[in-house]
Order: sequence, then C-alpha cells, then structure tokens
Amino acid sequence: MAYIEGHARDQSLLLPASVEDYVAADSPVRFIDVFVDDLDLGEAGFHRTRPKATGRPGYDPADMLKLYLYGYLNRVRSSRRLEAEATRNLELIWLLRGLRPDYKTIADFRRDNRGAFKAVFRTFVVLCRKLDLFGRELLAVDGTRLKAVNNPGRNFSRAKLARYIAAADERLEGYLAELDAIDRGEDGHGPGRSEALAAKIAHVRERRQAQAAMLEQLNASGESQISLTDPDARAMVTGQKTTVGYNAQVAVDAKHKLIVEQHVTNAATDMGLLASTAGAAKVALDLERIDAVADMGYYKGEDIEACEANGITPYVARPERGSAVANGRFPKERFAYDPEADAYRCPGGRLLDTRYRSVTNGHVSIQYSSPAACAACTIRARCTGSRWRRINRWENEAVLERMAKRLAARPGILNIRRETVEHPFGSIKQWMNQGAFLMRGLEKVRGEFSLTALAYNLRRAITLVGIPGLIRAVTA
Ligand code: SF4
Repeated sequence: MAYIEGHARDQSLLLPASVEDYVAADSPVRFIDVFVDDLDLGEAGFHRTRPKATGRPGYDPADMLKLYLYGYLNRVRSSRRLEAEATRNLELIWLLRGLRPDYKTIADFRRDNRGAFKAVFRTFVVLCRKLDLFGRELLAVDGTRLKAVNNPGRNFSRAKLARYIAAADERLEGYLAELDAIDRGEDGHGPGRSEALAAKIAHVRERRQAQAAMLEQLNASGESQISLTDPDARAMVTGQKTTVGYNAQVAVDAKHKLIVEQHVTNAATDMGLLASTAGAAKVALDLERIDAVADMGYYKGEDIEACEANGITPYVARPERGSAVANGRFPKERFAYDPEADAYRCPGGRLLDTRYRSVTNGHVSIQYSSPAACAACTIRARCTGSRWRRINRWENEAVLERMAKRLAARPGILNIRRETVEHPFGSIKQWMNQGAFLMRGLEKVRGEFSLTALAYNLRRAITLVGIPGLIRAVTA
C-alpha cells in the first residue's frame, strides 16, 4: 500500500482565481467582517475613526479590530504572531484585504483602544439577545484568577518584606561575627575570606535597603502588596495555590452559558462583588428582576442586601466560618432565631435573650447569650470553650435567613451554578489558552479580557446559531 501523495512542488496548478474562493461560506471571518463593519467604532470609543486630512494614511481601526477578533478567536494574541498570520493565513488575508500591519502598529492599537473593547463585547451581547440566546432567568456569577505579567518572586506583601528584612539582619549578624573572628585571628578559612565576606555583606545590605524602601512605600500608601513588574497585579490565594494576577468576574446566563457581563479587578477575594456584577448583567439583559447564584466566597450580608434592593434574587450558600466550627462545636445554624422573642433557641433548648449591640466599621450586630443557662448546661463542652456561648446577629440578618429558605427550597441551583460557570472558565483557560494576560496594568488587562470574553461568546454563538444565522442577525 502506498501513502496518499502530494503534488510535485514544481508542477503548474490551476489555483482558484481569487482569495474569496479560499474562504468557506461558513468561515467565522465572514461574520467578523460583517459584525465589525456594522459597529459604530467612534461611539464605542475607538481612536482615529476618521482618517487624518494630512500625513501618511493610517490603518482603519475596523481592520485592526477584525484582526484582533480573529486572533482571540483562534488563540493568537501576541502582536508578533498576528503580524505573521496576516501575511500567511488566507482567511486573514481575505479579512484584511491583503493589509499587513507590523507588530508595533498591532500592539499600539490594542493598547490605545483598551477602553473600547468592552463596548464591542456589549454589542455582541445585544446581538445574542436579539437571537434569543439568553434564558434571562438565572445568572451564575463567579470569578477566576488569571496570571499577570509579574513573577511571584517580584511581588511583596508587608509580612514577606518583614520576613526578608529579618533574615537579612540575621545573615549580616553572622557575617560580621565571622569578620570579627578573622580580626581576632580565629579564622579557620584560608586567605581571601575577608574580601569574600565584605562582598556578601555589601550585597545583603543593598537588598535589605531596597526591601526596607518597599516596606516604607507600602506603609505610606496603605496598600497591602507591591508588584514590581505589573504594579496593579496582586497575589491571590486560590485553594492551595497563590497566583499573582487579576480577578476576572463573570455573570453567565444559565441557558446557553453565554457571558452577559465581565469585569476584571485586582481584589483578592470575590466578597462584595455579587451585586455589582449581577446588577450590570441585569441591565445588559434589560430586565426588572433576575435570579443570581454564586459560591460561598460571595457570602456577605451587605452585598446580598444590595442585590435584593436592586431586583436581584441572590442564592449564595452560607460558608461555615468561625472558631466553633473549626473546633467541632455546634455551628450557628443549630441556633434558631425567634423573631417574636428577639432571641435564639440553642441546641440545649434554652433561650439566649441577653443582648449586646456593637458597631464595627458601620456594621451593626447584636450578640445574644444566656450566661445563666450555659452555667448549668450539661452539653456545654459541645457548644463552647468559654463559660457561655455567644451568637452574633447582623442587624439585617433577615436578608440572609430569607436566602437560606430560598436555597433550601431549590437545592439543585448550586449544581446549575457549577455547570454554568465551569464552561466559560474551562474554555478560556484550557481550550482558548488564555489563562494569563499579556499586558500590564488594570486598564489594559480589562481590555484584553473583553476580547477574551467576546471570543468565548462568539464561539458559543457560532455553535448555537451558525455563521449564516449570525450574519443574518446583523444584516437583517
Ligand atoms: S452551652 Fe449554653 S448555648 Fe450552648 S447548648 Fe448549653 S445552654 Fe445552650
């Protein structure tokens, strides 16, 4: 059996007469072309949407945007690779009509128009709405950590700097003691040791000085961390791992797992980000009310309250926090609040009705206890390590109790959350290979993630509707 053979390289061939013939009717470039041509780039915030009257003509921002959309859709994000693809990729040659911008022009376009990509993302969300691709009933909100252009070794917290400075002091002390020993003639090393030690001391002192300056800078700015390569990046803990990067928040519609809203922040946790993310998604879907589900990292009373006030019905599981849980004692859920008595009924059946009100940073809470009941309690060891148990209640905790009832009535919603958000995050990080940013600075990475989220949505919509259907939706 022979293999399938290619033709001889010097053979004359009758190739298709135009580049048009090389681009399939259902190629995504045909949609990108129509979609971008239909955008009002000036309104979206792109620069140079009108050509200059004088000087050398520049590239049309529409062509540059087409190049980036194609690149993000096909895992090509670097400006140098985009430059190369524009010269050898027939789909891109078709899309750009043979234009070959150099990598610097390509990179400058992304940098200069970073604030405008979100408007393009939103226009595509509107198109998906027109195509009825959103269920508009349930949003799953979640965040993922994406790496920044900042090596973990070039990120410092106050604690890390204090540790390094203490270690430097210890080393310096050792070196100086050794130098003293040499001076006293007790040196066990050969000649040249003094010079080697002097060089080490100078090196450690120099580094210590830089670390002390960074610590001073942190204390003066009130920031908790300093990153040397990308000053906006922050160290964030995810499970067992620490990533120096950014926190990308998404609100995903449960029907087809399309991203409705996305936003990048350098907040290390998700806490407090539910109302803003789900609220923006609600506006994008043009709704009065919507349900939103998130994991327990979003559990924050004030944020849940803000959701309710903004027409969002939140579903967030309560995390098991606190020393009682850590020590294997009765969790707070075992204590039932009685609104009429304004007291808690404890697992021992006693009423905790001694109240103490406190305010911390504007957060009002009431502490409930019953020292007398606890003093006589036979199960106290299972409840508290102190003389009596105290239960804290936020003044608006009824908001959280309502949410707990909703969750109990709809337990499957947490599984829907996981399936809904895993799809975009898994696709972005694994399939699209976009788990790390290429640019530095919060505003620039926001622009980058808008392109990433748009590329994800575009791919989903292509699967759901197909290229001809998408083109019809734009041109109809
Ligand atoms: S220790 Fe106090 S709060 Fe705990 S079960 Fe006993 S009586 Fe109730």
